[in-house]
Amino acid sequence: MVILSTLVRSFNGRSIVSASSRQLLGSYSVGNETGIRNESTGFNFEPSDESKHFIELSSKFTRDEIIPKAAYYDKTGEYPWEIVKKAHAIGLMNTFVPAKYGGPGLTLTDSLLMAEEIAYGCTGISTALGNNALAGAPLLLHGSEELKEKYLGWITSEPVQGAYCVTEPGTGSDVSGLKTKAIKDANGDWVINGQKMWITNSGVAKWYFVLTRTNPDPKAKISEAFTGFVVDRDTPGITVGRKEWNMGQRCSDTRGLSFENVKVPKENMVGPEGKGFIVAMSAFDFTRPAVASAAVGLARRCLDEASKYSLERKAFGQPIANYQAIQFKLADMMIGVETAKLAYLKAAWLHDRGEKNTLMASIAKCLAADVANRSASEAVQVFGGAGFNSEYPVEKLMRDAKILQIYEGTGEIQRMVIAREHIARMQKNGP
Ligand SMILES: Cc1cc2nc3c(=O)[nH]c(=O)nc-3n(C[C@H](O)[C@H](O)[C@H](O)COP(=O)(O)OP(=O)(O)OC[C@H]3O[C@@H](n4cnc5c(N)ncnc54)[C@H](O)[C@@H]3O)c2cc1C
Repeated sequence: MVILSTLVRSFNGRSIVSASSRQLLGSYSVGNETGIRNESTGFNFEPSDESKHFIELSSKFTRDEIIPKAAYYDKTGEYPWEIVKKAHAIGLMNTFVPAKYGGPGLTLTDSLLMAEEIAYGCTGISTALGNNALAGAPLLLHGSEELKEKYLGWITSEPVQGAYCVTEPGTGSDVSGLKTKAIKDANGDWVINGQKMWITNSGVAKWYFVLTRTNPDPKAKISEAFTGFVVDRDTPGITVGRKEWNMGQRCSDTRGLSFENVKVPKENMVGPEGKGFIVAMSAFDFTRPAVASAAVGLARRCLDEASKYSLERKAFGQPIANYQAIQFKLADMMIGVETAKLAYLKAAWLHDRGEKNTLMASIAKCLAADVANRSASEAVQVFGGAGFNSEYPVEKLMRDAKILQIYEGTGEIQRMVIAREHIARMQKNGP
């Protein structure tokens, strides 16, 4: 099997040749006898050769390793360790980690194109495979060099999982309501007490990013009240709860965690004291487009399954694909897939150019999650009675899709972010 790092190296080695051949092509292709102008408009919908190879690598892995086993993991809820280990071995995990810390250092665009392929096979498995981006983003963006080397180096050198611990039993959307506390001791180290809830990969992770309240003043500004830490799983005082049996994405591990007098060295603080809210939220500019890419993968699967079935299934003497009512469902799914893909690619493109992408990340996440849910519901409808049955693939797709509108900020929260960003721009720049 091809290993991702070999591909990255071979493409990096070829980039000089590509640049000179692009120059030659450039001088040739401005206008031609047909009158069609070929010069760049500044937009480009063609993935690079390198991206195409990454897509193919992920797509092959999905066909060979994920699709044949997705139903088994869904039925048993077993954690897909076998797939995690294989994906790690060929470099399909942690693609966001720079080469300095042992990762392939791919662009967000390439990482998401790959994530879409994997999610096409199963979003439960893709959540398990991709969650390190959520756990690792606060470290990558705000952690000390030592923390990055230790924890990002750990996940790239071994199939090790981290987890992102923000939500609590009493609050999810309203992060300002967090109750988990960290108090500084006489040595300047910290002691954490509190509970977290619905934490992906928490039963299998070796370390946690944990957001805590460090300013006890209830009137403290949210931007100054919280601090993030990396906490090793084997620190005394941590209790991991039972696996939650969720509606969908059942092989993804979700649990509660409790922290009782958990001591954390001061070196494990991520970003400055008091700035944890910004540290934790900044991960979303990175990971909401990733949820969007997974949603597009799921919606594409719905379109493919529904299209195939509608060509095979006959009613009133002909394939149901001949009926306009069915064709319009397929057309709407396709509109959703194409437009949601453009949205996540723009969010990733902004990020890769170093521009702020908060608005586009929320637009992409919100749109793609809604598209995935509509597509899954319509795919079930196209399958008729068989759509409601667990022996057919679309029932699982509908269950799996729902969480895409909830985790990493609900659809309502995305719309709040979009409206806030839009109004702020209007106030600053006018219409
Ligand atoms: C399978 C799964 C995996 C998860 N993984 C993680 C993880 O790894 N790490 C982590 O930290 N969290 C995780 N979560 C938690 C998830 O992010 C939260 O469930 C989500 O943010 C919603 O929070 P809540 O459940 O507390 O709902 P609430 O915040 O109580 O919201 C309930 C409802 O009210 C709406 N609502 C809330 N406030 C407003 C408002 N101001 N205006 C309009 N509507 C509003 C919400 O949109 C929602 O519809 C996970 C959850 C699940 C189910």
